[in-house]
Amino acid sequence: MKTALITGGSRGIGRAISLRLARDGVRVAVHYGRNDEAAKQTVAEIEAFGGQAFAIKAELSEPGAVARLWLAFDAQADGLDILVNNAAVIAPGPFSGQTEGQLDQLLKVNVQAPFFLIQQGLSRLRDAGRIVNITSGVTRIAFPEDVAYSITKGALSTMTLALAKELGPRGITVNSVAPGIVETDMNSWLADPVAAEAAASYSVFHRVGQPADVADVVAFVVSDDARWVTGQYVDATGGSQL
Ligand code: NAP
Repeated sequence: MKTALITGGSRGIGRAISLRLARDGVRVAVHYGRNDEAAKQTVAEIEAFGGQAFAIKAELSEPGAVARLWLAFDAQADGLDILVNNAAVIAPGPFSGQTEGQLDQLLKVNVQAPFFLIQQGLSRLRDAGRIVNITSGVTRIAFPEDVAYSITKGALSTMTLALAKELGPRGITVNSVAPGIVETDMNSWLADPVAAEAAASYSVFHRVGQPADVADVVAFVVSDDARWVTGQYVDATGGSQL
């Protein structure tokens, strides 16, 4: 049985990835930051259909969080096959008002944490393993509503390319999957019907994405069928702003 670690695997897109991989027969480490209840629910839902999962709590902006996360992982698993860097934070607001503190927080959670999770995870990740970084359509489509967030996703995308070459000799693939606008807690503004209609109009399918739309793409990228795909930006935006 393969083992996967999904950061931010308790809610939103990460939760959908956790559920999908568990349905595919993977044992899932559901990482989260603060919301114990959501993590408990995701693990319970997986166990309810006969899947295997366990939760790991680590607030990624705290010093030493990555090392603590891996120690907690080691206590419950023997090696890793799939790492999905999904956890991220956003700090919307005009460029003129974005603060040093906000940028620092975003860089810590969205860039530094994935960087060191991969670096410190390599001794656990088996050959022919999979790394997927969840980036965003903002690396293709200008998003001045959150310049700091966009920068972090660009950095993650660049890291993907460099590490694909670094880890190729071990048969490990490294790809990014980029969602467009997806209905999750991150986008609570979608509750406004006017905003939701505008968001739907970005996609050629004229709807907002659902977490499963992205999770199904991740399931392909981590499958054996995707063994010849690495260093790629996989657009999962529903054809947004083509
Ligand atoms: P979400 O609903 O806000 O869920 C975030 C998840 O990450 C939760 O499990 C949360 O755990 C965890 N997390 C957040 N900050 C953390 C921290 N500092 N330390 C540890 N864990 C933390 O997010 P989402 O909308 O599903 O987004 C998932 C990924 O997709 C992100 O990389 C995001 O940038 C990307 N994305 C999303 C959209 C979208 O429209 N939603 C679009 C493009 C890209 P707790 O609940 O415990 O805090």
